[in-house]
Amino acid sequence: MEPIHNIVICGGTHGNELTGVYLAKKHGWLLANPAAAALCRRYLNRDLNRCFALSELKSRKNSSGELARAREINTLLGKKGTKTAPDLILDIHNTTANMGITLILSSKEDPALLAISKVIAKEFKDVHIYLQPESREESPYLGTIAKRDICIEAGPQPHGTLDAELFFKVERVVFRLLELVEALNDGVLPKAGDKIETFTETRSIDYPRDAKGNITAMVHPALQGRDFCELKAGMPVFMGFDGKEILWQGETCYPAFINEAAYYEKGVAMLLTLSGQGCLG
Ligand SMILES: [Zn+2]
Repeated sequence: MEPIHNIVICGGTHGNELTGVYLAKKHGWLLANPAAAALCRRYLNRDLNRCFALSELKSRKNSSGELARAREINTLLGKKGTKTAPDLILDIHNTTANMGITLILSSKEDPALLAISKVIAKEFKDVHIYLQPESREESPYLGTIAKRDICIEAGPQPHGTLDAELFFKVERVVFRLLELVEALNDGVLPKAGDKIETFTETRSIDYPRDAKGNITAMVHPALQGRDFCELKAGMPVFMGFDGKEILWQGETCYPAFINEAAYYEKGVAMLLTLSGQGCLG
């Protein structure tokens, strides 16, 4: 494996996810969307973390707002898909869902990052490893500028607020990740063992909606806050405004991002994952 030297740490890719905004300000890391952060909004025109597909970065169309910022960051960091791209990006986010610290690995078949993440999961409480199989080139996430990346999701935290405990926990995780990268480069990465669970994203599901697109049910109270717990057929998943329960009829899965505030506009009530022992792809 090529050693990992050139590392970028960033926060505020979403301007109202304040753990990353304030860690970036504290340490002089990249504040990805300062215009949105100044107004404490997720984004101004378009979700910045959906602007980094290679085809959009290369295109000259619509060069304003977040897309212009995405192209600026791409140039600043050394350009996605080229030799000068960073070796690693750590991008810090918050979620309103009860996901603790979730390390999202977007690279396929990256045993190095998986090994590092497993050490973090062993050393810190309430850490989850989330695998997002995707084509890196057309993936829209900021982290995919780099050759490999970890998106750090921390929650539950309402957007636009800070939580001191979570702030310091994320800070400790980031610094520990840097130490572990160094250990990996030196060939002395500690072993975490094979028993660390991973969760592989399969698909998203939306809220029940009427013909006009209005939401007709909420996340069921029995499911709220139960991210990464098993959901089986027959268990309650939504509750209508009349109190009627809607039971899960799909596959056995482990939902995450349950009731994430920023995903209402994306038609996502939660993302479904499968649990595994760390097989990628
Ligand atoms: Zn975010």
